[in-house]
Amino acid sequence: MPELPEVERIRRQLQQSLPGLRIREVEVLLARVVDFPNPEEYERVLVGKTVGEVKRRGKYLLLRMQEGGVLLFHLGMTGRLVVVSEREGAPLHTRVALRLEDGRRLLFVDSRTFGKTAFLPPGRKDLYLPIKRLGPEPLDPAFGPRELAKALRGRGPVKSQLMDQSRLAGLGNIYADEVLHRAGIHPCRPGNSLSFPEIRRLHRAIREVLTDAVNKGGSTIRDYVDLRGEAGSFQEHHAVYGRAGKPCPRCGKPVERTKLSGRSTHFCPACQR
Ligand SMILES: [Zn+2]
Repeated sequence: MPELPEVERIRRQLQQSLPGLRIREVEVLLARVVDFPNPEEYERVLVGKTVGEVKRRGKYLLLRMQEGGVLLFHLGMTGRLVVVSEREGAPLHTRVALRLEDGRRLLFVDSRTFGKTAFLPPGRKDLYLPIKRLGPEPLDPAFGPRELAKALRGRGPVKSQLMDQSRLAGLGNIYADEVLHRAGIHPCRPGNSLSFPEIRRLHRAIREVLTDAVNKGGSTIRDYVDLRGEAGSFQEHHAVYGRAGKPCPRCGKPVERTKLSGRSTHFCPACQR
């Protein structure tokens, strides 16, 4: 599933190619990917609007419209956005097609259809609960160790807390494993058992891992590709995720895999306490 670095990669590419373009035509090919409003209304309100700034909140892409309102995409498990030229056909599993004034089309493609799109009218962003409930942005300059400590209240495993979008936005299974390894913290530790020096270390690890992953195009485990169809390369730099039995890059002991809250969890039993 695309996490913050993958979504941020796509955001940067959309920001380079879409702002200033008017939407000429909107076609919903699978009604249930449209979360809000109903598919007919979604098609109707978007036609004639001009794409403004492209933002990201957690794992959500937010395309601000110059006339007001926000076009939102969540990629779910297998969703991706593709920009095709006038002559190119739409890939299999295209769910929404937006034709732009320069003839290109922005396509929302999703084979497993856990992805979502929505159009939020001006001033209605806070009424969309999945966005309203999101915790702080880990790469926001205002997000410091104190804010992280607040996110890790309670006795639940620190890994589950890091993946809880209402505590912290953007981390999923891959990056939670990677940041905990970099910080030397065992994923099963209760969040409220971390000392302040450990919180500081974890905070630094979150910033470093996410920044590094964004710069390397994110991680491609199965099918993530960016707007240009290119895979990420950060998976080649994973310390623990997907590396069970292989040597820990820090100490050489084999990486272990376990299940935590139903999710596969990778860690080094020697480096992570
Ligand atoms: Zn190790």
